[in-house]
Amino acid sequence: MVKVVLLDRDGVINVDRHEYVKSPAELEIFSYAKEALDRLRGAAYLLYIVSNQSGVGRGLMTESDLDAVTNKLVPAVGPFDGIFYCPHKPDDGCDCRKPLPELLRRALADAKTRGPLSEVWMVGDSPSDIAAGAAAGCRTVLVTSGLNPDYDPAVFDVPPDYIAGDLTEAVRLILTAG
Ligand SMILES: [Zn+2]
Repeated sequence: MVKVVLLDRDGVINVDRHEYVKSPAELEIFSYAKEALDRLRGAAYLLYIVSNQSGVGRGLMTESDLDAVTNKLVPAVGPFDGIFYCPHKPDDGCDCRKPLPELLRRALADAKTRGPLSEVWMVGDSPSDIAAGAAAGCRTVLVTSGLNPDYDPAVFDVPPDYIAGDLTEAVRLILTAG
């Protein structure tokens, strides 16, 4: 049986920015991220990043800028079993931008090639992460380490199953609730 944690990137693993993380220089990784992710790896969870990166579709950065950010992130926090980005703008009408669950489904389809799924989590810092996670059948954890640290239930169509201050607390919660 396969256990999976899907992770939003910005605001969860690294500091989010209003104007997108457009280059490696703008990538500020949370100091606790590697240790937190390693605890999940040690408990045999598969880890996937599922991240909206509309800065690409908006022309603020290129796919190769996005790759350069990824190439700084992975050596710093360790490997993922897969990384799925939606590069589209909100009005592109794509099927992969969160809150739609398609990006998460792609990650889960990859995980299923390893075996039947026994436990699936989505960790994110925004209502769209929680909505996408719920639609994809995940238990959801909202982390308040993003740009909007206060939890306002009014902006959530789907409430999170759990709320954590940061990734470290989210991991503790996942390992406890397992
Ligand atoms: Zn998309």
